[in-house]
Amino acid sequence: MEIKPWLADFSQSKHPFIVAGPCSAESPEQLLTIAKAVQALGITTMRAGVWKPRTRPDSFEGNGSVAFQWIAEVKKATAIRFATEVATADHVEQALKAEIDLLWIGARTTVNPFTVQEIADALRGVKIPVLVKNPINPELALWLGAIERIYKAGVEKVGAIHRGFSSYQKSRYRNQPYWQIPLSLKSQFPDLPLIADPSHIAGTRSLIQEVSQKAMDLGYDGLMIETHPDPDNALSDARQQVTPASLGKLLEELRVSNPSS
Ligand code: PEP
Ligand code: MN
Repeated sequence: MEIKPWLADFSQSKHPFIVAGPCSAESPEQLLTIAKAVQALGITTMRAGVWKPRTRPDSFEGNGSVAFQWIAEVKKATAIRFATEVATADHVEQALKAEIDLLWIGARTTVNPFTVQEIADALRGVKIPVLVKNPINPELALWLGAIERIYKAGVEKVGAIHRGFSSYQKSRYRNQPYWQIPLSLKSQFPDLPLIADPSHIAGTRSLIQEVSQKAMDLGYDGLMIETHPDPDNALSDARQQVTPASLGKLLEELRVSNPSS
């Protein structure tokens, strides 16, 4: 497996590229605990949701911008880089001001071209990577369109995250992977790093290993895995988060074909 252009620049000690961290930034202590644990696994980039676009009202919608103060403290205490989700142009401005290292657009945002365009305008020319999750529905064109809007805004380090697709039918997974859709995305943008999000595909921690392995077998460039010190008591996505110890085991068992580093 060859490392895609900007991923090689976005220094990492692990290959494939791993982003690990909690679904939501819950407290300064939680962030620091996970940052130290994932760093000990050789992971250089941590995720943490500051704003959480929830499907139903009255769910935990994130701690909002106060979490940037916590992130700043953790960045001072460790060498970890942070990734967070942006769902509006204002989120982009706040995240850039907070010197977040990587941004992603969530599945509920990718479905809306006007919002994606507003985000793209706010991102114009940024040097940090921007990853675009697939839309919640199995619609390749919406995913392509969102990626094109980000590229057209002059962002050079663009990537895609496959987090599975909603389906009316009950399935083994929380979100159906429909692996052929991201593979057609790859054929249209051969240099675009493709990262799997086994946590949101699986929805249950016991299935994360098999989804991660499938992604590796299909030549994905990386994985984003929700990791929490106390998953059962997480404020969002409790069933699918893993402890840092389970993440370490998962990575040890992962078979990566022909890794180049
Ligand atoms: C998340 O990453 O926690 C999230 C809400 O993801 P998605 O946009 O894939 O549902
Ligand atoms: Mn989540």
